Amino acid sequence: MTRRQTVTVNVGGVPVGSAHPIVVQSMTNTDTANAEATAIQVAQLARAGSEIVRVTVNTREAAAAVPEVIARLEEVGLKVPIVGDFHYNGHILLREFPETARLLAKYRINPGNVGAGQHHDANFATMIEVAREYDKPVRIGVNWGSLDQQVLARLMDENTAAGSPKSGTDVMIDAMVASALESAHYAEELGLAHDKILISVKVSSAPELWQVYRQLAPLCDYPLHLGLTEAGMGMKGIVASSVALAPLLMEGIGDTIRVSLTPEPGASRKLEVEVAQQMLQSLGLRQFLPQVTSCPGCGRTTSQFFQELAQKIQDYIRDTMPDWKQKYPGVEDMQVAVMGCIVNGPGESKHANIGISLPGTGEDPRAPVYQDGKLLTTLRGPRIAEEFQALMEKYVEQTYGTGEKAPV
Ligand code: SF4
Repeated sequence: MTRRQTVTVNVGGVPVGSAHPIVVQSMTNTDTANAEATAIQVAQLARAGSEIVRVTVNTREAAAAVPEVIARLEEVGLKVPIVGDFHYNGHILLREFPETARLLAKYRINPGNVGAGQHHDANFATMIEVAREYDKPVRIGVNWGSLDQQVLARLMDENTAAGSPKSGTDVMIDAMVASALESAHYAEELGLAHDKILISVKVSSAPELWQVYRQLAPLCDYPLHLGLTEAGMGMKGIVASSVALAPLLMEGIGDTIRVSLTPEPGASRKLEVEVAQQMLQSLGLRQFLPQVTSCPGCGRTTSQFFQELAQKIQDYIRDTMPDWKQKYPGVEDMQVAVMGCIVNGPGESKHANIGISLPGTGEDPRAPVYQDGKLLTTLRGPRIAEEFQALMEKYVEQTYGTGEKAPV
């Protein structure tokens, strides 16, 4: 896969562009005016692996709270870049709250929501002026649900006058691309540097997302923020986002991604980060944590025990990863296999760095463990899960702690 070539934009110390790994970002759903709750959620997202976190800045109270959010994060040693999401009143808030403007790592500007008529350009210009003053990048974030009506109306008129008019969807896509590029060019005319601009053009259907990004990509070299807007909840949102983003990512389009999931009531917000990471990892574009390969299980295995072990190992790796990452460089490349029986178990285990093959129904109650392709030991008894976890921990320590391979 060859990345579409872009300039690099520095977002609070995180480089975004084709010369750098694709960046995972997320957005809070707390009331930003509640600095404590927002700082807690930003910390959760950052610890889950979000490299940039966006917060809404929609009111004076929210704008006033941003410095406290950042101070609270610094108190616990977290330095994740915070992006301010502005709609309708960004030109007012950024001017009224200079400390917030100074501390935010980037401003998101939606050209469809900066004001209508004569106010549109003036409000947009004010935000760009602040960005220049504080040396900040901006994201021109076009969204089909809040598309700049002036641009849309103009393209509709041109389409009607054309000999063979395009479909309504095609005109909408043209308008999104035009709105993004015209706004970016206007920002440059106002003096913002070329490498201070990122673009997104989000829609909520996968085929339209492919169309709009494929149309935009060859027309500029700004880094692109990729995401399916309003992806939905749970399984639907995860599948929709994966289907939408994967083809574009494999074409080299997209320099930072966000998965817009509606959380289940009471569920953690960090699922959107985990999905984004898994997406990049499954495509072979980035490696965040050891990959656990597990078979689906079938009538040949004692499903409950097998499922519990697969889950336990996966959770253990995710929970331990922040610590492993500090102590064991390269551990994210490790492959672990947890297999249900001897049909595919030993074969898959041999391909992993460390793998276990549980006894299937009716098989001898023993679980061979392979390490770097060779049989290491055979576990028996009620503590198979704990013993396998201990072997995995030892493998990590010996392999990634010293730089030497574990003895087989
Ligand atoms: S490895 Fe065994 S338990 Fe797992 S799916 Fe294959 S046959 Fe079934």
